[in-house]
Amino acid sequence: MDLRLAGRTVIVTGASSGVGLATARMLLAEGAHVAGCAREIGRLRAAFEGIGDPAALHLATCDVTDRESVEQFVAGVVERFGGVDGLVCNAGRSLMATLPGTTDDQIREEFELKIFGSWNLVRATRAALAESESGSVVNVNAILSRQPETKLAVTSAARAALLNLTHSMAEELAADGTRVNSVLLGLVDTGQWRRRFESSGTDLDYDDWSAEIAADRGIALGRFGTAEEVAFPILTLLSPLAGYTTGSSIDVGGGVGRYI
Ligand code: NDP
Repeated sequence: MDLRLAGRTVIVTGASSGVGLATARMLLAEGAHVAGCAREIGRLRAAFEGIGDPAALHLATCDVTDRESVEQFVAGVVERFGGVDGLVCNAGRSLMATLPGTTDDQIREEFELKIFGSWNLVRATRAALAESESGSVVNVNAILSRQPETKLAVTSAARAALLNLTHSMAEELAADGTRVNSVLLGLVDTGQWRRRFESSGTDLDYDDWSAEIAADRGIALGRFGTAEEVAFPILTLLSPLAGYTTGSSIDVGGGVGRYI
């Protein structure tokens, strides 16, 4: 099936690893122009070594929480490709801690990352997206936004705020013809989980360790998701064929969500 993404320009934040990297690679395979960013440019460049047509790829350093850094990055993308048709706000991480175990600065940082990690980008690309025949924003969020979990209180609250904001963005940007949607992730096998495995001190191998967590969390499909299984719904939302879908969320949690 042709998703009609060929020749479109899509920004992917946090493109050096996990979901962002899988999304960027899938977009390149569909013939899209991809602009990827991360804070560490060396790791970002290494991740794309030998992948895709260099003429279709723009890589730059950018901290999504820094408005000036985001504006410079977006200006570079527009100069390179002439516009922006899609935006994937993916950069981020989660904070694992109890509420009493979290400092005030960590709480502020968590909200800053979740809110400005989307809003800085949406604000900077708004005019360019409005000029696209089918501008589309996808905020990469988590099932935690609807279903908070133990030791994830602050990140759950920040994600709930982002989900709420996504609905307002969808309403306010509809006048520009820009759609804004979310994907809500459960547990996805990426750098985040590999780092947690390495620091866990477990005797298990990664597959057994992750299967144990999947069982403990009650994931219906019994395993973590893959980054590619998240990338595909993101591409679907970016596609002009999804032109009547805005303010919606796709649950990519393998059945971990218990909400209705
Ligand atoms: P990874 O840790 O694999 O990759 C994170 C990416 O974001 C890296 O490219 C990193 O590069 C970049 N990044 C982090 N902070 C910033 C920043 N301030 N500015 C620019 N880039 C940044 O993460 P995942 O693929 O696992 O996660 C992707 C998204 O999905 C995140 O928002 C995460 O919170 C969310 N998510 C993931 C889940 C999971 O189970 N994996 C579950 C629920 C949600 P660098 O460090 O060089 O900046």
